[in-house]
Amino acid sequence: MIGQQEAYELIETPAAGLDDLLAAAGEARDRGRGRCITFSMKVFVPLTTLCRDYCGYCTFRRDPGEPGGRTMTPAEVVALVQAGGRLGAREALFSLGDKPEARFPSHREFLRRHGHRTTLGYLREMCALTLRESPLLPHANPGVMAERDLAALREVNVSMGLMLETISERLLRRGQAHWNAPDKVPARRLRTVELAGKLGIPFTTGILVGIGETARERVDALVAIRDLHERYGHIQEVIIQNFRVKPRIPMRLAPEPSPEDMLRAIAVARLLLPSEVSLQAPPNLSPGVYPRLLAAGLNDWGGVSPLTLDHINPEAPWPLIPELRRATEAAGFTLRERLAIYPGFVTRAEFLHASLRPRVAALVDGTGLVKESHEHWRHW
Ligand code: SF4
Repeated sequence: MIGQQEAYELIETPAAGLDDLLAAAGEARDRGRGRCITFSMKVFVPLTTLCRDYCGYCTFRRDPGEPGGRTMTPAEVVALVQAGGRLGAREALFSLGDKPEARFPSHREFLRRHGHRTTLGYLREMCALTLRESPLLPHANPGVMAERDLAALREVNVSMGLMLETISERLLRRGQAHWNAPDKVPARRLRTVELAGKLGIPFTTGILVGIGETARERVDALVAIRDLHERYGHIQEVIIQNFRVKPRIPMRLAPEPSPEDMLRAIAVARLLLPSEVSLQAPPNLSPGVYPRLLAAGLNDWGGVSPLTLDHINPEAPWPLIPELRRATEAAGFTLRERLAIYPGFVTRAEFLHASLRPRVAALVDGTGLVKESHEHWRHW
């Protein structure tokens, strides 16, 4: 692993040195993890699009009354996860806005009607419902959490996540990406990641590239994640995600990060992080650059989903998987399916609630990946 100073120098590499950087990161990936690239068959469950924050780049959040501004009912959650289950999905990725009850009376009323005071309480019930009514394993990503929330959710999630996004407090200032986003205070997010470590929750985090942070601040964020992993050993993957411009967001005039910026961030992350921490960049955010992402040291494509709330179609194929498989194998790697909990954690009792262990054990082989005989996509 490299140190912080070396990482600063590498992330500021001029274009001429980029190939050397990528080669070093690719070698580090091969040495530490071999030539196996993983992905998860997931269904995205947007439990609520309401959120008390207003991040400048967000395409997800809505206010009550806006088209799409709503919270899923239990029946909708069950329909979605069961449709995903029929297609062979194994992960229910619960994504939601942060603490909408703190801002919206109508959401408090929704929660009250369903027997809850907090969105996180409702989320816990929906994760338990998913486990009862479908074959999917929940992975919740609900924003900043207190210790008691994490402890309650741990019982019904095989892993959880919170993107650190950035460590830069500058971005909280007026006109910056995190102005009017109280849950984006870096110290609060780091605290959640730390508490997850204390409670033994396999955890996914990562950075968002191109929201106003400097290249050095990307390194600082990765170092903060590494430090927490060194204390608790719980970071299962780090996602390097790129900011994308969309027409209706406040940052619609901001420049996107260049492909080179992304490749540098991925490569430096691979060199900074211990090899047991998986490195992911979502392929749907960088279409057509699979070989470059692989060259930069990536080893996981993240979750691939065929379903959305508006499009529950059990006959739909998984269009991205054959494409991912072709690109992965063409670059000399094998593609394997993983669960929402990474192989390094599946057999460690301290990282998985006892009630979830039999379900996980039934799905994985000796390497901790999904049994090849269960990888339905191989026949497509
Ligand atoms: S916290 Fe920010 S990024 Fe997340 S849903 Fe709310 S506004 Fe969007």
